Amino acid sequence: KVNVVWFRQDLRLSDHKALYYALKDAEQSGAEVMGLFHIHPSLNDSFTVRHDYFFRTLEDLVNQAAEQQFPIHFISGEVEEAFQHLLDQDFTVQSVFYNKDEVGFGRERDQSVTKWLEAQDIPVESFVDAHIHGAEGVHKKDGGYYKVFTPYYRMWSSLDKPAVYSIDKKKLSELGTDFTDQFQKGEKAFRDLLSNCTKEWNHIGERSAIQRLAHFLHNKVHHYEENRDFPAKNATSMISPYLKNGVLSPRTVYHKAMEVIEENGGESKGLETYISEIAWRDFYNMIHYIYPNSKHEEVSEQYQGIDWNQDEDYFEKWKEGETGYPIVDAAMKQLNTIGWMHNRLRMVVASFLTKDYLVDWRKGERYFEERLIDYDASSNIGGWQWAASTGTDAVPYFRVFNPTRQSERFDPEGEFIKSYLPQLKDVPKKYIHEPSKMSAEEQEQYNCKIGEDYPEPSVDHKTMRKRAIEVFEKQKDS
Ligand code: FAD
Repeated sequence: KVNVVWFRQDLRLSDHKALYYALKDAEQSGAEVMGLFHIHPSLNDSFTVRHDYFFRTLEDLVNQAAEQQFPIHFISGEVEEAFQHLLDQDFTVQSVFYNKDEVGFGRERDQSVTKWLEAQDIPVESFVDAHIHGAEGVHKKDGGYYKVFTPYYRMWSSLDKPAVYSIDKKKLSELGTDFTDQFQKGEKAFRDLLSNCTKEWNHIGERSAIQRLAHFLHNKVHHYEENRDFPAKNATSMISPYLKNGVLSPRTVYHKAMEVIEENGGESKGLETYISEIAWRDFYNMIHYIYPNSKHEEVSEQYQGIDWNQDEDYFEKWKEGETGYPIVDAAMKQLNTIGWMHNRLRMVVASFLTKDYLVDWRKGERYFEERLIDYDASSNIGGWQWAASTGTDAVPYFRVFNPTRQSERFDPEGEFIKSYLPQLKDVPKKYIHEPSKMSAEEQEQYNCKIGEDYPEPSVDHKTMRKRAIEVFEKQKDS
């Protein structure tokens, strides 16, 4: 008899609810435990940088698990065919344990696999694990859902927090079982996917994640409040790719942060702000859960049907970082280079695309999906709809980010800009936010010819802001 732990976006061996309960049950019932990963054929058709990062992370998990004598096995093919292969082996599957997806494609897949397994008389145990409080975990007193973050967060903070689900490594080795011989086809599918991975990633996997979190909590978090909006300061934790792939559990993040608060005598503004950011992640998961169609349509009905600009040139310029606004361009280069972008910059580029260019937020959301290694549908849709003023808790449509002012405020020395736009490296602070203001002589002097080395601003912010407000007003009144 074997308890199967189906790994998905929870690529770790500690503080893992499904693994914890599978081991506990196996110990009581005398079963063994096996790790499983399912490779869907569609993955080969849409392999992006996010998948590259994900499969390298999975490879790390597989190696760590093998070291603990807990091999992870692979099944491949369409879902039912793959799971049938699992059931056809010469051992009996006692139960399948997994941490559920509460939203999107994963939610539908979970529901259909569970139904199918139960029809084969295989009990299924699923858990809310990817968030501190799952989509049904935070309600108003009258039972309804919050739509605005501040009251949500007040309630979120008042609730007891789940404990860490520690995994006994000794038990893992003792109960873990090796059936690799019976899963050669899946193993090959995994190796094939790994051969698609072309990038070299540093800091992959659970050990790196724990180190990065500890480094942040001990060295940076106390200045998080004042520094987090400045991309050149590297003042945020950069754990989003780990949370996204489940390399870190949000419970662990929460409890480690609380330990540091206690060490500091119970107070730290930086830590409090940091914890509220982790709560945003739960909030957007809940919003996506109650608005399952929010990847495709505006949550706020009054803004459905906006007359977006269809000009592909604008969208191309934005994607390539050639808008002529240095902060936007440097941010897009950061995204295109490392697959991650600082939060302040995500807000700036999303506002720029949807307000200055008036390009449909869905296009930006999808571009981020292709490019971000931390792509999380709920946070991304939430962030885009926030910036486009179409979400539940959105910035009002008439409050449009001014990219030049944002740049002056959050990258005053132009340090971040220069790190991604080397053609501006000699441009002094006075012009770094608006290089087109340089005279011909200054362009010569600072080695940057506008129109050749760096583009003219593609649009005039003041004009475009006015136009965006008019379009939103018209839509609202229609
Ligand atoms: P820190 O500042 O160190 O915060 C710690 C953690 O809190 C983050 O790792 C993240 O899990 C969570 N968090 C912080 N801010 C937010 C937020 N605004 N919304 C939700 N969770 C948050 N985050 C993603 O994880 N995936 C996405 O696809 C994503 N897309 C975004 C798109 C837009 C347009 C915007 C405005 C924001 C988006 N965010 C997304 C949220 C945020 O930008 C990132 O979580 C953050 O930049 C990650 O860096 P960090 O780990 O250093 O964050």
